[in-house]
Amino acid sequence: MSDSSGAPEEPTVAEALQSQLDLIGKALDASKDGFAIWRAVRSSDGSIIDFNLLLMNKAGADAAGQPRGDLIGRTLTDVVGTETAAGLQLLFARALNEEHGVKEIVPAVSKDNIHGFFENTVVPFGRDLVFATYRDVSTEEREHTKLLWLSEHDFLTGMPNRAKLESALAKSISEARESNSLLSFVFIDIDYFKTVNDTYGHDVGDALLVNFVKRIRNSLPETSLVARIAGDEFAILIQDVKGEAHMRELMDEVFSAMKRPFTREGLELAITCSAGCALADGSQHPDEVVRVADKIMYQAKNEGRNRYLVTTMKSAI
Ligand code: GH3
Ligand code: MG
Repeated sequence: MSDSSGAPEEPTVAEALQSQLDLIGKALDASKDGFAIWRAVRSSDGSIIDFNLLLMNKAGADAAGQPRGDLIGRTLTDVVGTETAAGLQLLFARALNEEHGVKEIVPAVSKDNIHGFFENTVVPFGRDLVFATYRDVSTEEREHTKLLWLSEHDFLTGMPNRAKLESALAKSISEARESNSLLSFVFIDIDYFKTVNDTYGHDVGDALLVNFVKRIRNSLPETSLVARIAGDEFAILIQDVKGEAHMRELMDEVFSAMKRPFTREGLELAITCSAGCALADGSQHPDEVVRVADKIMYQAKNEGRNRYLVTTMKSAI
């Protein structure tokens, strides 16, 4: 615009404000991250029952999968669905109640199925208002879950590894102490496994290890944990064992599962194994339980292999 002298006209205050608002709107819509402002809806007793959408950028509406015009004024449940809204509502309410920003990764859920992960940063401002930004971190989160799984599992058999076993044992011991129950920790090692490798090759040895651990797994209660420690050595953690007789019943199951020969490409391989079982009551240190099971496993080897030995550990209390 220009006046009669040709000089540009000064914008009015309203025009200047409008152009600033347009600029902010464009910047928000250019963002790949979602952005929204929500107001808490409270019940008559003052508790937060939902949130209403006041403003949302394009990325936010795209993530919700609905035209932005249809979303303004709607509730959190309407916008993101019942399952996802439950987690978000708690997060928004926490930001308001604690009066500071909170950040959390919330899964996007539909019909019990997680279809993505969003990192939500929620900041309270004004009365009952929060602004929430959210970033799709599905790829990073899946990568993180995969790395975590790899750090706790053995590559060949897919079973938990020593790291996972150690944390599970410490947890089991404290649970046994709290519930006044017994747990069993077992080391089990294949006898003369080197001969299998030397005679039939490493690939046959690998296949045998995979099938060996499957048989152990299938002969024990589902709640037990079977881990590969190294080479042909495995560990078993069984909770809520009723006593030594029960422990022996469980080990008999494992040993009878090994009696059938392992077959591969026309080969029939019969193997035996040796095991040391420590029965603990939750009062022992995990290292001590491991040490005892290891010691009696070697004792079983020295006594002629193809057997398990059981030791009931003395209560440390
Ligand atoms: P023992 O009766 O005393 O247990 O003798 P062993 O021949 O079974 O020997 P030991 O348990 O001391 O050693 C296990 C062998 O397992 C050593 C190595 O040759 C082999 N091994 C270790 N890791 C792997 C693996 O990933 N695949 C295969 N095929 N063999 C492995
Ligand atoms: Mg061995």
